[in-house]
Amino acid sequence: MLAYQHAYHAGNFADVHKHLGLFHLLEALTRKSSAISFVDIHAGRGLYPLAATETQKLAEYREGVERLWRRRQALAAEPALGAWLARLATLQSGPALECYPGSPWWLGDALRPQDRLTLYELHPGEHQHLDTQMTTSINAQRLHADGLKGLCQRLPVPTPRLCALIDPSYERKEEYREVVDTLVQVVRKVRHAVVMIWYPLLPAGRHLTLLEGLREAHIPKLWRSEITLREANAERGMYGSGLVLLNPPWQLDQTLDNAFDTLAPLLAERAVHHGEWWTAER
Ligand code: SAM
Repeated sequence: MLAYQHAYHAGNFADVHKHLGLFHLLEALTRKSSAISFVDIHAGRGLYPLAATETQKLAEYREGVERLWRRRQALAAEPALGAWLARLATLQSGPALECYPGSPWWLGDALRPQDRLTLYELHPGEHQHLDTQMTTSINAQRLHADGLKGLCQRLPVPTPRLCALIDPSYERKEEYREVVDTLVQVVRKVRHAVVMIWYPLLPAGRHLTLLEGLREAHIPKLWRSEITLREANAERGMYGSGLVLLNPPWQLDQTLDNAFDTLAPLLAERAVHHGEWWTAER
């Protein structure tokens, strides 16, 4: 059963970590002209008006994107964050931050005529929001279907390159394992696929199933990044955010290290970033 709705968490510190990483990944990938099939396995709604009742309930964006938005003038010349904030500004109708964009928007924004974008969303209500919010582009499609299965079924893709975002809600603990199994299938069929996986750092430590599973599966060339806000504490829930990147473009690890080292202390006084190669090149 799907209960998770991303609107309750839109724009939080983990979204900033993920979408800033995605932004730099897309920038690096689109430097070369060859066509890319982008697949967003867990799309969510696409756009999140911050005034929405769900988003106001927890108002997690105040500890996330709003912290950067308030300092955007000072950060404008900062290479890692300035361009991201400038793109975010193009979505607002004025100087106030009114709407936070999800992964479908960031992917759609980077799409070139030669590329394709497929958005999967399994939750009927969330898919309906996505359907009504995203503008229709000739090379983008939205599917009300299981994205992990859908990705495997569409391999190999018709374009020279593939880039997928795997961003489950991890409502079921089996999802950590399903992500590993999916990545194994992707690598088997498209060795040079570029994949970004997001995972939460929770006191139960289930993300280790994912990380260790990836190593045990001998998947090469994985870089990972974690932003930790505080010590793990059973009463306070998610204490950090993690990303794994398969086959990141050349030097993206350094770009992201710099970006996230700058980002972490802006999110929380004690927040730290750690980036490392999780598995080596074959
Ligand atoms: N990627 C979005 C973003 O960055 O804006 C947020 C996605 S949210 C964390 C996870 C979404 O995946 C939820 O909307 C959930 O309904 C959807 N979902 C869960 N399992 C799915 C599956 N197997 N296939 C497609 N969508 C799924």
